[in-house]
Amino acid sequence: MLIIGSHVGYKKDTGLVGSVKEALSYKANTFMFYTGAPQNTIRSKISLEDVKEAHTLMQESGIDKNNVIVHAPYIINLANPSKLDFSCQFLIEELKRVATLGFKYLVLHPGSHVGIGVEEGISNIIKALNLVLEKDNSNITILLETMAGKGSEVGRTFEELKTIIDGVKYQERLGVCLDTCHLNDAGYNISDFDKIIDTFDKIIGLDKIKCIHINDSKNPLASNKDRHENIGKGTIGLDNLLNVIYYDKLKDVPKILETPYIDGKAPYKEEIALIRLNKR
Ligand code: FE
Ligand code: FE
Ligand code: ZN
Repeated sequence: MLIIGSHVGYKKDTGLVGSVKEALSYKANTFMFYTGAPQNTIRSKISLEDVKEAHTLMQESGIDKNNVIVHAPYIINLANPSKLDFSCQFLIEELKRVATLGFKYLVLHPGSHVGIGVEEGISNIIKALNLVLEKDNSNITILLETMAGKGSEVGRTFEELKTIIDGVKYQERLGVCLDTCHLNDAGYNISDFDKIIDTFDKIIGLDKIKCIHINDSKNPLASNKDRHENIGKGTIGLDNLLNVIYYDKLKDVPKILETPYIDGKAPYKEEIALIRLNKR
């Protein structure tokens, strides 16, 4: 069964119930959200009553909690030594929040090395992940996202992700989140997805893919930009995206849309309908 959803809001007044309702309004059977604004550290207290009500609603409406994804905020940068203590502390708290919310996966951008070089950046990420996972005793899996290679982003190649995973003691707590826009912008040609999957399988192993962000791209292959486009309106195109969405070996992996709003309106209901209509 196709597991598809989108990024949804999670607001203080409407809570997690509001997030589930938003997902359902798009006819989605999963969703992804941030526990607060991705650019800041302000987090409001989680209401356990709201979480309970949200999980009941999910059960009644066919959303499996194991397919729901939380995205860590961008302010966490495990590659940057000057922010390491803060980032680790915030990530530990974030894992607690994900556990309280009752979910299993946290997507994390590996980090940006901000000038110290990829190797140093990776070594900082490894140290940080070991420290965080040592302290955290939840069962949350951290999904390292494949990055576009914008600025000094680490994680633009499968080899970089593999090096990070290899350095971490608790590898069973790590997985990968593919992002089609990021892959394209990093130089992986989505029109030859078999080759991407083959490469990934050889380097990391297909079983590590736990989430796929489905986005078209505003920019050409290998542009290192990271600007998402609506499904079928970018340089990747509908056909290539459908091939990823319906890829048999990844059929149990949740697919999440992070495409831009159109005229201030979420495009997800229409995009999910388009995807379902073009079932392969
Ligand atoms: Fe992301
Ligand atoms: Fe993404
Ligand atoms: Zn992106």
